[in-house]
Amino acid sequence: MKTSRPIRARIRPAAILANYRSAKACAPDAWAWAVVKADAYGHGQLRAVEALRHEADGFALLECENAVLLREHGVRQPILLLEGIFGEADARRVVDYGLHSAVHCREQIEMLAAHARADRPLSLYLKINSGMNRLGFDAATLPQAWESLKKIPALNLTLMTHFAEADGARGVLWQLERFKALAGDWHGPVSLGNSAAILRHPLAHGDWVRPGIMLYGASPFADQSAAEFGLQPAMSLESRIIGVQSIAAGERVGYGGTFTAEQPMRIGIVACGYADGYPRSAPSGTPIAVAGKLTRTVGRVSMDMLACDLTDIPDAGIDSPVTLWGPGEAGHVPADAVAAAAGTISYELFCAVAPRVPVTVDGQ
Ligand SMILES: *Cc1c(COP(=O)(O)O)cnc(C)c1O
Repeated sequence: MKTSRPIRARIRPAAILANYRSAKACAPDAWAWAVVKADAYGHGQLRAVEALRHEADGFALLECENAVLLREHGVRQPILLLEGIFGEADARRVVDYGLHSAVHCREQIEMLAAHARADRPLSLYLKINSGMNRLGFDAATLPQAWESLKKIPALNLTLMTHFAEADGARGVLWQLERFKALAGDWHGPVSLGNSAAILRHPLAHGDWVRPGIMLYGASPFADQSAAEFGLQPAMSLESRIIGVQSIAAGERVGYGGTFTAEQPMRIGIVACGYADGYPRSAPSGTPIAVAGKLTRTVGRVSMDMLACDLTDIPDAGIDSPVTLWGPGEAGHVPADAVAAAAGTISYELFCAVAPRVPVTVDGQ
């Protein structure tokens, strides 16, 4: 519903396409699954798929229902279920709709084997636990997996693993070594890199990379910005000033009075709160742009509002544009900067944008 309350999420499909091309340029010898799980990291699954329709090598997501929805929407590319199947019904749909499925435990392989048909090759991604210790087979369970896979009459197999610290100091080589040891004499295709590995570890791409966050124009790194990689922000969160207070030194702002004015201040009240998806954990000082100038939030984020410092923006008042994150009418605030201030990552900000926030799509 397009409400008159001024908050908006703005999505740029052209940025998603440009970022996918950047991922392909970073991994020129690999195919790339466009990861559109979690409603394309809050950007809208169909919007992202539409943006990449003519270029993506494949789409990766979680729910079988969403994969089927894409098929019914006319998507012809491979679709990969990143967590594999959750039951018998999914196993049937993987076969019927020709979906690619990760298999991370023996139960999944057994279920798929029971539905497999000789006339329909099954495309499976055997997930190897190389140190993330979340999903996948290790040295103890891998032999059983190979045994179970023999029951599938027609099989296209890819080996995959997921990096835990591709964005950090420990990197990926330790996991690559474990992966190679577990893969043994496997010479078939492998799928390795997430965004961090695509951008920073050229030896850890594999035949299929799996870019997620970089498609949406944010950085997987705490120490390197999206702009440094030429990534384009695909989402902006924008609103307007709906109230102004002039306060004396010593006055506090907001719930709990966590911010105290040290001198007289002009405070702007923005129509955006944690019920819109803005993080309540964002402290005073989180960057925000108003009417073309960068400023800071003050006090605690409320459910429907937050406060910011307008002292040095005398022209700003009721109805002035505000950019919470992304490039907007009021200026550009990197989502990564807001996330860092709030002690989280842009992934979480994007995924948390609330259903009550109306979405506008550039070019539509
Ligand atoms: C989410 C996910 C990705 C994408 O990770 P980014 O850090 O967003 O690039 C890749 N592979 C798997 C298995 C995932 O679950």
